[in-house]
Amino acid sequence: MRIGIIGAGQLGQMLGFAARELGHECFYLDPSEAPPAARVGPVVQAAFDDRVALSILAEKCDVLTYEFENVPVEALDDIGDTIPISPPLDALRLAQDRLTEKQLFERLDIPLPGYHVVDSEGDLRAAADSIGLPLVVKTRRMGYDGKGQFVIRTEDQIATAWRDLGGQPLIAEQWVEFDYEVSAIGVRGRDGEVATYCLTHNEHAEGILRTSRAPVDEPELTAKGTRYLARMLEDLDYVGVLALELFVVGENLLANEFAPRVHNSGHWTIEGAQTSQFANHILAVTGGDLGATANIGHAGMINLIGEIPDAVRRLDEGVLHDYGKSARPGRKLGHITFVAESAADRDARIAAIRRSVS
Ligand code: AMP
Repeated sequence: MRIGIIGAGQLGQMLGFAARELGHECFYLDPSEAPPAARVGPVVQAAFDDRVALSILAEKCDVLTYEFENVPVEALDDIGDTIPISPPLDALRLAQDRLTEKQLFERLDIPLPGYHVVDSEGDLRAAADSIGLPLVVKTRRMGYDGKGQFVIRTEDQIATAWRDLGGQPLIAEQWVEFDYEVSAIGVRGRDGEVATYCLTHNEHAEGILRTSRAPVDEPELTAKGTRYLARMLEDLDYVGVLALELFVVGENLLANEFAPRVHNSGHWTIEGAQTSQFANHILAVTGGDLGATANIGHAGMINLIGEIPDAVRRLDEGVLHDYGKSARPGRKLGHITFVAESAADRDARIAAIRRSVS
């Protein structure tokens, strides 16, 4: 099949590699020059909401998908009756606004941190009164990797937070003293078949994912996370991979956000699961049967941000994925994955590699 992918970053590149192995061809739409996925297939260089470029892509391809959630939904709505688009645009629409995302969690009985809608400095003060401090203020739209966020710890920071972020729709959220963060990643096929991966333990710094480890050896949390994920996949009549990010607090999971796409915290599945998230996304959107999601051993994934140190290139263990991007502070340039026989062995290797990365 010919698969059109909106966005040609590293997720598009890894989707393209998986598609090629499955005998499909990928075509991309992306405004940047020489994006990572240009290695895998032709890229129409245009803005994501360029109607002409989108209809060219739709004409060339049998199905369309996307690699990031800030694709303008209105532009896709216009071509939605000419070509199947997966994941469904309703899921994309809900994920683009933190308020509708939280309302979805509430409707599906998925626990989440307390929150308050903020449209004025007065709302922010009311949020501090009702939720308590600390709290985190987030822009409702276009936030990613911790951007567009302000943590308010004392009352005198309220005015500064409003000065920094005010004037756009905001949400204030209870600051959660979580034990750790996990993601639940799953996939749903066109025929409604659902497959889920084991829970992944994620560590962030400055809002950016640094390290993922799988599996999380907590059967009850895993069962809970899988239930929440399955509820979302069914409710949204979803097709493709979905990632749900959660905070672990004791026995409980609180939903932070979801991504209607393949996710950085699932990169370990390339080497660490029987079928990767990328292959399963392609299988789902092309109407194929899903592949097995069981993990193989204990996987560790370390993001390479800002630079790929020579010491990492010289490692004789693990698999280095270099996206071919030019170096820039804070930019995700690649990742390294390895699979160990025990969790202790994996953690020791992560610690050793982290020393060369930071
Ligand atoms: P987000 O962009 O919402 O995924 O936030 C990025 C990261 O900031 C998360 O992965 C957490 O590490 C942290 N964070 C976001 N919201 C909260 C919260 N309500 N309580 C504690 N930490 C948070």
